[in-house]
Amino acid sequence: MKQFKIRRILLERGAEKDSLAQKIFKKLPNIPIENVEPDELALIEDIEEMDKESLRIIHFNGEFLKSCPGTRRYICCGYKILNIGINCPMDCSYCFLQSYVNQPSLRIFTNLEDRLNSIGEVIDSFPDSIFRIGTGEFTDSLSLDYVTGWTDFLLPFFSNRKNCILELKTKTSFIKDLIKSSHRERIVVAWSLNTPRIIANQEHKTASLKNRIIAAGECQKAGFVLAFHFDPIISYQGCADEYEETVQLLERYINPESIIWISLGSFRYMPNLKWAIMKRFPGTNIFNGEFVPGLDGKFRYFKPIRVEMYAKLSERLKKWYDDLGIYLCMESDDVWRQSLGWSPKNSAGLSLYLDSRVKVIFG
Ligand code: SF4
Repeated sequence: MKQFKIRRILLERGAEKDSLAQKIFKKLPNIPIENVEPDELALIEDIEEMDKESLRIIHFNGEFLKSCPGTRRYICCGYKILNIGINCPMDCSYCFLQSYVNQPSLRIFTNLEDRLNSIGEVIDSFPDSIFRIGTGEFTDSLSLDYVTGWTDFLLPFFSNRKNCILELKTKTSFIKDLIKSSHRERIVVAWSLNTPRIIANQEHKTASLKNRIIAAGECQKAGFVLAFHFDPIISYQGCADEYEETVQLLERYINPESIIWISLGSFRYMPNLKWAIMKRFPGTNIFNGEFVPGLDGKFRYFKPIRVEMYAKLSERLKKWYDDLGIYLCMESDDVWRQSLGWSPKNSAGLSLYLDSRVKVIFG
């Protein structure tokens, strides 16, 4: 997988002195820099295009560590998001960012490293809680690591804390810098997985399934704990056989014993995302299915379809290994029971379950 092309740097006033901005300038010495104002309004066409070749360097004044918004009325996992940036250089047709962002370009928050101490104070002030933290919610955790060096400073910072884990979620095979690091403790490297067909047709510019799983295997051999996310699971004719292919590849390259969790989530979307997708990917067939609006306003597959997909995939995964920490993302108590045979009942129950996985794997 090749590194992504960066055409220009947009430097927001106020970010020039941030330590991460200085490092990025050194890593991209030949890329032109344009100075921009923080509150400059973007053209609507630029937002729709998302401008994935411009790196916008931003001094972020908001909160870096936030609770995952989850979704109302469904069981959520109590995750925390470390907000390192927004948007990513890959281009999945279903990406929710297409209807979420109100500014284009790859937005990197360059005062992150300078604010680590205050993030640490928050974590340290709740010594009896477990913070499950991820950077892959509004961007991909590794796709721009070769430019930002995120892993250089995030790994030592989080490995030293006993009441948290940092999950790096990716669809790339960019693990070179990660593996060079000497820190493994409390770090989880996670891959989003799908069928080879969905990856080829919907997850544009991402690593192939095989390359993702090979990269995961190399990380595991280098001592990292792994996680996987089958999300979004997409229903189409013959998908069961193709999800089977994905599991077979996992069996071939991965030792299941040090997997901390595997999540399953079906394709879901807010109505405005559908229009953004149809505009950017008019040929996509991801809406060919029976969708119904959920309690949170998002459209999901009709419940029996979701239950069947989760039940089949989880049973297959359990045949591989019976202790994979399988959980469902944003589903109800009855979908849990019908597809997995048990339920954590509510979001607090799911948090406790995932915290217990952290304790089993990391102690
Ligand atoms: S990798 Fe994630 S953030 Fe990037 S386009 Fe795909 S879904 Fe969106």
